[in-house]
Amino acid sequence: MYIFKKVSDLQHHLEKESEAGKTIAFAPTMGALHDGHVSLIDQSNEIADICVSSIFVNPTQFDQKEDLEKYPRTVDADIEILAKNKCDVLFLPEVEDVYPDGMEAKEQYDFGQLGNVLEGAHRSGHFEGVAQVVNRLLEIVKPNWIVMGQKDYQQTAIIRRLLKLTNSKTEIVVSPTIREEDGLAMSSRNVRLEPDERAEAPIINEVLEGVRTAADKLSVAMAKKEAILKIEKSGSMKVDYLDIVHFETLQSVKNWDDAEQLVVCTAVHLGKVRLIDNIIIT
Ligand code: AMP
Repeated sequence: MYIFKKVSDLQHHLEKESEAGKTIAFAPTMGALHDGHVSLIDQSNEIADICVSSIFVNPTQFDQKEDLEKYPRTVDADIEILAKNKCDVLFLPEVEDVYPDGMEAKEQYDFGQLGNVLEGAHRSGHFEGVAQVVNRLLEIVKPNWIVMGQKDYQQTAIIRRLLKLTNSKTEIVVSPTIREEDGLAMSSRNVRLEPDERAEAPIINEVLEGVRTAADKLSVAMAKKEAILKIEKSGSMKVDYLDIVHFETLQSVKNWDDAEQLVVCTAVHLGKVRLIDNIIIT
């Protein structure tokens, strides 16, 4: 695996590959890699000749200083995981390489209602930061595909819109959420859970799956209410939001048949960690 820290070195390498007719799939990450990230590398290797990944903890997408400071950083182990899983190229930049002109966003994108709901309503400036870094990384890597996880469902919708707004030639590929055996969605933040919190965390996925079956018996409003009660029952979890939304617009629905697919999305505080998860209901 090639590792590049400087933009010009990476671009020089990738330009040669493109000129040789090779296609590129790109899976950006913030490191602290787990099997969810590995699934993106596998997916990239399936669709393209060259798999490029990046590890960059992007300061502009964190709304909480502590979350940025405490974000797990395990670069040596990450490099091993990527090499073992046949990632071809790793981009490992510093903040100055990604933002040579400073971290102030140069472009503002209008994501409309997509950006104002769910995570957008609860993490001020988060998607502006995500769009800024993804746009910059795409400008550098120029991939045929960007591969992202369903785990961050709203993020995939925002990036799909970003690609449209910027007339990008890159296509987005969304890969399914990889879970622990007990159903907890894999996340770099899971390592920050205390053992008792970790033991409780699978309730989130159980409750989301419960919403799927509640569709036969309960109204959408009742299903949401019941789900929140179940998550908060033990007293250690606090639901930031739990909503059932249209799969494209991400707007709340009133009825189960308001869209061909619905997404049940939630964010939950557990100890010092905020976990997000979602499932798609067809
Ligand atoms: P992160 O390093 O958390 O910024 O995530 C980098 C990419 O990995 C994003 O596209 C995430 O959606 C994806 N990802 C994170 N966790 C999972 C998971 N459990 N399953 C699948 N993809 C994931």
